[in-house]
Amino acid sequence: MKIELAENYGFCFGVKRAIKIAEENENASTYGPLIHNSKEINRLSKDFKVGLTENYKTFKVGDTAIVRTHGIVKDELADLHKDGINVIDATCPYVTKPQEITQEMSEAGYDVIIFGDETHPEIKGVKSYATNGARVVTSVHELKSMKFKDSIALIAQTTRKVEDYMAIANYLIPRYKEVRVFNTICNATFENQDAVRKIAQKSDVMLIIGGKNSSNTKELFNISSDDCKDSYHIEDENDIDYSWFNEKKACGISAGASTPDWIIQNVIHSIEKIPYKL
Ligand code: SF4
Repeated sequence: MKIELAENYGFCFGVKRAIKIAEENENASTYGPLIHNSKEINRLSKDFKVGLTENYKTFKVGDTAIVRTHGIVKDELADLHKDGINVIDATCPYVTKPQEITQEMSEAGYDVIIFGDETHPEIKGVKSYATNGARVVTSVHELKSMKFKDSIALIAQTTRKVEDYMAIANYLIPRYKEVRVFNTICNATFENQDAVRKIAQKSDVMLIIGGKNSSNTKELFNISSDDCKDSYHIEDENDIDYSWFNEKKACGISAGASTPDWIIQNVIHSIEKIPYKL
């Protein structure tokens, strides 16, 4: 099998930074998963004794709490600081930015619209900074039944597909007097998305490696599927079904921003064994 990696894939700046913070704080605990990759979280737990809690109220005075890459809700962060806990903020700066914009625009009287997944921790966090509430949408279709004030601020989840964000902006701009569109999609997302598009066009089969709960991995998979119908989202080499490679010659690989290199290498080693047929 001919194997080719996308030009850009895998760990982004924000995830590398968060992992370094965790490795430097042995015995600390993260509030919620540090990143969306359970295998890397298990490694941090095993090698650095970094714990994980889903309830921030379990932290006690003197504990060290690491705020996850996707950020947390504003009031919860304030509570942690108040309660005598040593708080280390591993929120990615590209996530802090939309939090700040949301607060600023909301205080300035704009209706805030967030393009993203309401159930995702990043969006729960960003939304909590809207002092007058914010509406979260996933498509133009949802906007059609909504009414807004004349002044709108539009913000995107960092990992969203740029074309979908532009469709939302294009819908709003002719309908409202003032629409401020903030480009909050992060560069790592752009680069990985562009690269997966390119490689999917020339591959017979595509493997997109990353956590099933990783939003940016799911977007990579969607983009890949547009150009290569034999695209598969896998978490690691154990998810591979070797029948996918029957009659195929070229396999392209990409990985989400929270997929560690050791998992990518394990996948490559597994498919390297498949013979290349002319
Ligand atoms: S994908 Fe972008 S926003 Fe998310 S952690 Fe990585 S650098 Fe930060």
